[in-house]
Amino acid sequence: MTILKQKTVRPHQRPDRFLFQYICPMPNLSIWEKESFYAPQDTLIVGAGLMGLWSALELKKKNDALRITLIERNTTPLGASTRNAGFACFGSPTELIHDAATMGTDAMLEIVEMRYKGIEKIKAHFPDTAIGFELCGGYECINKNYLHWDALNDKIDWLNCLLKDITGNTKSFEQSDEKLAAMGLQGFDALIENSSEAALHSGKLVQALTQKVQAAGIRILYGIEITAWEKQHSHILIQTNKHINLTAQQVLFCTNAFTNTLLPELNIMPARGQVIVTSPINGLALKGTFHFDEGFYYWRNLGNRVLIGGARNTAFEEEKTIDLSGSLVVKNALVSFLQEHLHPKYEYSIENHWSGIMGFTADKTPLVAKVSEGVFAAIACNGMGVALTPVIAEKVARLLSEQF
Ligand SMILES: Cc1cc2nc3c(=O)[nH]c(=O)nc-3n(C[C@H](O)[C@H](O)[C@H](O)COP(=O)(O)OP(=O)(O)OC[C@H]3O[C@@H](n4cnc5c(N)ncnc54)[C@H](O)[C@@H]3O)c2cc1C
Repeated sequence: MTILKQKTVRPHQRPDRFLFQYICPMPNLSIWEKESFYAPQDTLIVGAGLMGLWSALELKKKNDALRITLIERNTTPLGASTRNAGFACFGSPTELIHDAATMGTDAMLEIVEMRYKGIEKIKAHFPDTAIGFELCGGYECINKNYLHWDALNDKIDWLNCLLKDITGNTKSFEQSDEKLAAMGLQGFDALIENSSEAALHSGKLVQALTQKVQAAGIRILYGIEITAWEKQHSHILIQTNKHINLTAQQVLFCTNAFTNTLLPELNIMPARGQVIVTSPINGLALKGTFHFDEGFYYWRNLGNRVLIGGARNTAFEEEKTIDLSGSLVVKNALVSFLQEHLHPKYEYSIENHWSGIMGFTADKTPLVAKVSEGVFAAIACNGMGVALTPVIAEKVARLLSEQF
C-alpha cells in the first residue's frame, strides 16, 4: 500500500493569509488605534523630507497645542532630501547673474537672503558633528567662453555690493585662480571663492531633524501613502493606500516632485538629479563645494572621495522623470567630466551612483500656497532646498497658523 504524504501547510504560509496581507493590508482599526495613531489631527503634513520636517517644527513652535502628524509613504524619506549633494550654499556668481537677469535682482536677492539665513539656522539647530557640517568654502569654476567673461570682475563687484547687506561681508566672492592647480583641478580658467559656504551630510541632517521633530511631540507615520483628498464640511478627508482614512482641519502637501498626482494644478515639474562618488583617493587635495556651468555640474570632497552630480543638461527631456533608477548617459557624462577636470595623477574607481528627484516651478521660485480652504502646499525648492527649507518653513507656519 502506498501512503501518500500530505504536505502540511502551516497557517502563516496559507495562500488565503498571503492574499489577506497584500490585498487588504490593514484590518479594521481598533478603537485604540482610531483614538491614538490615526486620531483626527489639526494638521496633517504629507511628505517627511526637509520641507515637511522643517514645516512641522516651525508650526509646532508657533502653537504647541496643535496636533500634528507627518505622513511619509516610504520607510525613510525618498525624493531629494536624502539623495542630494549636501551643499549648504547660497549661490554661485554665474547662477546669481543668470537669476537676476531672468527673475529680477530683487527676487534673486530675496532667495539669496533666505538661503544665507537657512544656513545660519541649520548651524544654530545642530552641532557640526551631528550633521557632518563643514565650513569648507564654496567655489565656482569659470571658463573664458562664459557669456560675461569680459565683464566678470565688474559683475563680481556688483554682486559683492548687493550681497554686503545680507552676509555682512564686503567680499562674499573673491577670485582665487591660484587654488585651481593646488586643489588638483584642471581645464578651468578662473576660480571664484565664497568662504561662507559649507558642506554637510544629508542623511545625518534628515535623521537629526526627524529626531527633533519627534521630540517636539509631532507624530510621524511611515509607509503610508496619501492617494486622494477631499474637502468635507469642517475638515479634510485623506485616503491612503492602507485603506485607513485620516482627517484633519488642514493638510499641507510637502510632496515636492511627486505633487502632480495630488495637486495637478500646481504644475510642478520633476527633474532627476544623478550623483556618483569615487573610491577613496590617495593624497586628494580637493576641499570644498564646487560649481560649474550655472550649477549644471557640482562636486565636493567627501573625506578623500569625490562626489559629483549634475549633467542634467546632457539629457534634459529624459531627466524630466520621477523614475529613480538613473541612466548611463548622465553617469557617463559625470565620469567624463571628472576625468577631464581632476588631475590624472589621481587613481580611483566609481563606487556609488544614485539619483534623486527635484521639483521645479516654472519661474524657479519656491512655492508656498493656499490651494483651497484648509489645503496648503510648500513645494519646489528648485534644487536648493537644504538652505531654503528652514526659512520657507517659517512662512509656511505663518500661513497655516492663520487658520487657528
Ligand atoms: C541629486 C540632487 C542633488 C541636490 N543637491 C542639493 C544640494 O547640494 N544643496 C541643496 O540645497 N539642495 C540640493 N538638492 C535639492 C534638495 O535636496 C531639495 O530641494 C530638498 O531636499 C527638497 O525637500 P522636500 O522635502 O521638498 O522634497 P523631498 O525630499 O523629495 O520629500 C518629499 C517627500 O514626500 C513623500 N511623498 C510624496 N508623495 C507622497 C504621498 N502621496 N504620500 C506620502 N508621502 C509622499 C516622498 O516619499 C518624499 O519623502 C538636490 C537634489 C537632488 C535630487
